[in-house]
Amino acid sequence: MHKDIATPARTRAILDKYGFSFKKSLGQNFLIDTNILRRIVDHADLTEESGAIEIGPGIGALTEQLARRSKKVLAFEIDQRLLPILGETLAPYPHVSIINEDVLKADVKAAIEREFEGIDDIMVVANLPYYVTTPIIMKLLEDKLPIRGIVCMLQKEVADRIAARPGTKEYGSLSIAVQYYTEAETAMIVPKTVFVPQPNVDSAVIKLTKRKEPAVAVKSESFFFQVTKASFAQRRKTLLNNLTSQLPGGKQKKEQILAALEQADIEPGRRGETLSIEEFARLSDALLIHFS
Ligand code: SAM
Repeated sequence: MHKDIATPARTRAILDKYGFSFKKSLGQNFLIDTNILRRIVDHADLTEESGAIEIGPGIGALTEQLARRSKKVLAFEIDQRLLPILGETLAPYPHVSIINEDVLKADVKAAIEREFEGIDDIMVVANLPYYVTTPIIMKLLEDKLPIRGIVCMLQKEVADRIAARPGTKEYGSLSIAVQYYTEAETAMIVPKTVFVPQPNVDSAVIKLTKRKEPAVAVKSESFFFQVTKASFAQRRKTLLNNLTSQLPGGKQKKEQILAALEQADIEPGRRGETLSIEEFARLSDALLIHFS
């Protein structure tokens, strides 16, 4: 077994050798605790037949642990300066492919088809760059990739919103968007001390397990998401107020909105945060004919 990358001393030595300076704008907070890395990988339930996709390998701390526990690793790294470093640190693992691309612009589906031939079980495992956590998670889910799920480190505050249940202050359109596609759970809370440099916010690891079918069946997915966003636009406002002010032409359609709420059996005076995902589905289906 090769020496772990993710120790404070080895990380420092690698960074010094290449004169690497962290770019805050790219969310570069590297993990220097092998124990935490192993626990993250444990949550992904990989086997020797699995494929792992990583977003932002950095100097390869997590990549290495994934390489030891899977058949193939595919990693997207935006920062070109890290490529020679990864070339050295991951040299013992020939089944790792690094793609030097912004994951938000990458054709991840095509890369999976190319790199994971014959591999059926694929997990995304990442310590995400915090400035783009939500866009990355939403892209991975909306692209409808052939993955089993996502295990990722992110800001604790965002993890709380993703896994939130109705009736809590964290519950909102992000909870619904993610839980529509996945079963979401917080796997662990992570102290700042395991990163270099240390981030300003608390961190958590979440596990998102993709559902075979979305949590609810709706007539129009895009309208369903539009209705949930509108319902949380101003949290203190009632559902009726948010829908009339946020949906296109809503002010002129107050009567139709009231009728749709009644049809969906939802009190117009309730607040968005009290509605379950099933209730949002009923509501958006009832509203749809008035807005298409
Ligand atoms: N995986 C490493 C670790 O755990 O030590 C590094 C994690 S660091 C939080 C995030 C990494 O994502 C950095 O290497 C950064 O350069 C990279 N990154 C930032 N934005 C990216 C993007 N849009 N696409 C791909 N990689 C990105």
